[in-house]
Amino acid sequence: MNKAQPHLHACLECDLLVNMPDAISHRTNVHCPRCNHSIAMGHNNAKQYVLATSFTALILMVVACTFSFISFSSNEQIRTINLLQTFTELYTQEYYFVAVLVFSFILLLPTLYLTSVCLIILSTFRGFEIVPSVGLGKLMSYILPWSMAEVFLIGVLVALIKVTSMADISLEPSFWAYVIFAPLFTHIVSVIDSHRLWDWIEQAGACSHG
Ligand SMILES: [Zn+2]
Repeated sequence: MNKAQPHLHACLECDLLVNMPDAISHRTNVHCPRCNHSIAMGHNNAKQYVLATSFTALILMVVACTFSFISFSSNEQIRTINLLQTFTELYTQEYYFVAVLVFSFILLLPTLYLTSVCLIILSTFRGFEIVPSVGLGKLMSYILPWSMAEVFLIGVLVALIKVTSMADISLEPSFWAYVIFAPLFTHIVSVIDSHRLWDWIEQAGACSHG
């Protein structure tokens, strides 16, 4: 956002510069007057809410990476896999590129996104930039389209339906952690509209520059 014109925000759909109000009341939507695209939605305590939910999502991601994901049993043989084996199995089968993509889309990029937003919000509270906020904001914009936690979850659920006829399946703690993580991540992303994000980045920058 241009510091000289702090209330102007470009519509993501049609690029129209929209004059934003100083404050947006809770659950009130600001729409683009030209294309009706939703630009921002008011939220009470958005900063605290996003910080708390992002920390929760990061803890869920740690749980999802720590415990078993799914157990299969068939003909008295039991096989348990964890989330990290989703990539390591691909890697050992020499699908290197696919392994890196899957690791990035379902684990690395969502974690980076959540860590970035936590750092930006903490900077606004602490009065100095822990990491340059503008860089973090750009990073978040780049990685968001490639974060596909919910796509992975839907893929797992579809695969489970097919495997149920061949083996007994036991859903482990890591699976349930990821089941909660994926929709929570989508919800957090829906709360952080670009107007709100760049408002926080500006606050973090203003704090660090006095
Ligand atoms: Zn528009």
